Order: sequence, then C-alpha cells, then structure tokens
Amino acid sequence: MKILVINCGSSSLKYQLIDMSNESILVKGLAERIGIDGSRLKHEKKGMDAVVIEKPMPDHTTAVKLVLDALVDKNHGVIQSMDEIAAVGHRVVHGGDKFKEPAIINDAVMKDIRACIPLGPLHNPANIMGIEACMKLMPNTPMVAVFDTAFHQTLSPENYMYAIPYKYYEKLKIRKYGFHGISHRFVSQRAIEMLGNKPNSKIITCHLGNGSSLAAVKDGKCIDTSMGLTPLEGLVMGTRSGDLDPAIIGFIMNEEKISADQVNNILNKESGVLGISGVSSDFRDIDVAAAEGNERAQLALSMFVNQVRKYIGSYIVQLGGIDALVFTAGIGENAADIREKVCTGLDFLGLEIDPQKNNIRGKEAVVSKDSSPKKIFVIPTNEELMIAKDTMLLVK
Ligand code: ADP
Repeated sequence: MKILVINCGSSSLKYQLIDMSNESILVKGLAERIGIDGSRLKHEKKGMDAVVIEKPMPDHTTAVKLVLDALVDKNHGVIQSMDEIAAVGHRVVHGGDKFKEPAIINDAVMKDIRACIPLGPLHNPANIMGIEACMKLMPNTPMVAVFDTAFHQTLSPENYMYAIPYKYYEKLKIRKYGFHGISHRFVSQRAIEMLGNKPNSKIITCHLGNGSSLAAVKDGKCIDTSMGLTPLEGLVMGTRSGDLDPAIIGFIMNEEKISADQVNNILNKESGVLGISGVSSDFRDIDVAAAEGNERAQLALSMFVNQVRKYIGSYIVQLGGIDALVFTAGIGENAADIREKVCTGLDFLGLEIDPQKNNIRGKEAVVSKDSSPKKIFVIPTNEELMIAKDTMLLVK
C-alpha cells in the first residue's frame, strides 16, 4: 500500500510517498513560495538527484497538481498512475478537544477542523487548503487527518486547566492542548519497543528542535506536556520565550506603549535563545559563540538546559519514576553536548549517560551506560511515517 503524506503550510507543502510494505520513502519533496513569485517544487526520488521544477503556483490546488504530476512523471516519477495512491494522510496542527485520534476526512470532520481555526490561526487554515486541494484532485482517494494535539488529549484536567476564571475555559476553550504530539507518540512507541514492551512504562520524551517540548508518557498515554494553549509555553526555544511570569506581558505593553499583538510577536519571534544571546536562534551558532566565550550565548544555552531539566524533574514526579528518557528532533538527535548537559548529575535518578555512546548524531542509539538502571535513548523522529501508519490503519 502506498500512502501520500501531506504537511501543508501557508506558502509551502511538504510531501512524502511511502511504500508501507517496507515503510520506505519512495519520494519526498517540498513546494515552496505558493502564492508568491518564484514558486518552486523540489522533488527527491530515492536514488536520484533532486529535480527542481520552477513553475507558478498561485494556490495550493496548483501546487498539489504539480506534486501529483511529478509523482507520475516518466523520468522522475515513482508510480504509473494516481490509482496507486491508496490514501492521503494530512498533518493537521490543531484538533482542539474534538480530536483524540486521527480521523477519516468527511464533511463533519472538515467542519470540526474549521471550528479549531481560532485555536490554530496560523496553521489550520493552511492545513485545510491542502486537504481541499487534494480532495478536488483525488475525489475518490480516502484521506485521513492526523493531529498534532491529539496525543495530549489524555491529560487530566489538573494538567490541562489554567487557574484563571473558569468561564474562559467554557467560553474561549482556553486550556493546555500541547503540540508535537505526532512526534512524541512516534518516539514513545519506539521507546516502549526498545524497553521490550515493558508494561506500565514511564517515559519522558524530549522533542528539542526549533520549537521544543517535553511529554510525560505513562503506559503509552501522555499525562503531561510542556506546550500549552499555543506552542509558546514551556521550554526556552529558538525564538520563543517559553514559561514566564504572565504579568511581564502587561508590564512591557505599558512601559513600551505597544500592543498585545506586538508583545506576542516579541515573545514568539524575538525571544528564546535568540533574544538572550543576540546571536542566533540556531543552536549550532549558539554553540560556536558559547565556545568562543560569548557570555550571553553561554547563558542562553544554560537557560535552555536548565529548563529541560526542570521539566524532567516535574515529569519524573508525576510519572512516579522513569524507565527511559528519550531525545529527538534537530537538537535532541544531533547535539551530543546538550544531551550530556541535560543528563549530568541525574545518576541519583538512575539515569547515567555514557559520554562515548552519546557521541553520535542523527541515528537511533542507547546512550546510557550499560550499568545505568534507567535508559537514555536517542530516537530520530519520523512524523511522516507516523501519519502514514495512522492513515493505513484507518483506511484498511
Ligand atoms: P523544527 O522544529 O523546525 O522541525 P528541527 O527539529 O529540524 O526543527 O531542529 C532544528 C534545530 O536543530 C536547528 O535550529 C538547530 O538549532 C538544531 N540542530 C541541528 N543540528 C544540530 C547540531 N549538530 N548541534 C546543535 N543543534 C543542532
């Protein structure tokens, strides 16, 4: 069975065609600058140089059409006809409290995804455009929506409620939803396998990338996560502040005479390790600057590591222990130094990192000492494969 996975942004569309018989990626690609001058499609077939197609893509339907044409192209295509695509899996960022699981797309599901737009104003409209474009061009192919928020729907109210007047939960649906759920689910499932399918496993997953979040996963179910109503809460990130005293928002607005939207922008785009270091939002640049003695870069790194450790502490208490700590995403998979800093001094919790084994990047590995009572894993995330698996399960 071949499944097309679509991850649609407002001006971009990422795709993968996955052969589920061996879970291999037949082709992957990216359509960029949709609706903007200079749109291009980069199409990478397994075992072949990437093909770049520069054609106007005024809208998402044109972009999906170009992708489908590329899939069946005589030279760089991978299938004879579109009928070979058994189903399409769409990433949808916000499923609110309506979606606890992936869903086969129909009119009612589309209505519910639209109802979540106020909660995911930057992402859901783009996700919807991608779905609608595919439905138009592949009317007879089943489609599935897989939600970033769904994995966190198992949180209990004491973890998802904010202590503000209850009416804001009822009226505005303000609560913790969490994000990166597809990734946390993928790596926690793999960690459970690596633990030999231990029953009642207690796992903490650290998705550390441009955006970062942690999840506490008990027996395969998420019980807490660090992002909230929006992806701003939780860890110090590339450009996002993470947790702060909420009074800071009003204070900056009053002192700087700026609007709520402007403060929102500062907290989302100008804060985090970029805001502290003044160097970059990219941890590779911060690492270099810190090594050269830049004190603000050093501070940014320490703040990031410190915040990850605080969450680990909180989650170990909530889980009542830990079997495995998992690192994933850009930083988690590649930055051995950050993994080591996060784990330093956690021996008392049974988490003993092995500096030699930890000296790897971008591949699955056990990086704790053989003698460590609890495991530390690096597990590369694969959100597309998770979406394809969910899609296959639902359409089968
Ligand atoms: P996104 O959240 O956009 O999916 P990724 O998971 O791809 O992000 O992570 C991207 C981030 O990973 C980069 O901003 C960079 O900071 C970090 N990163 C990638 N490789 C390394 C590395 N070798 N050392 C430190 N950080 C790295």
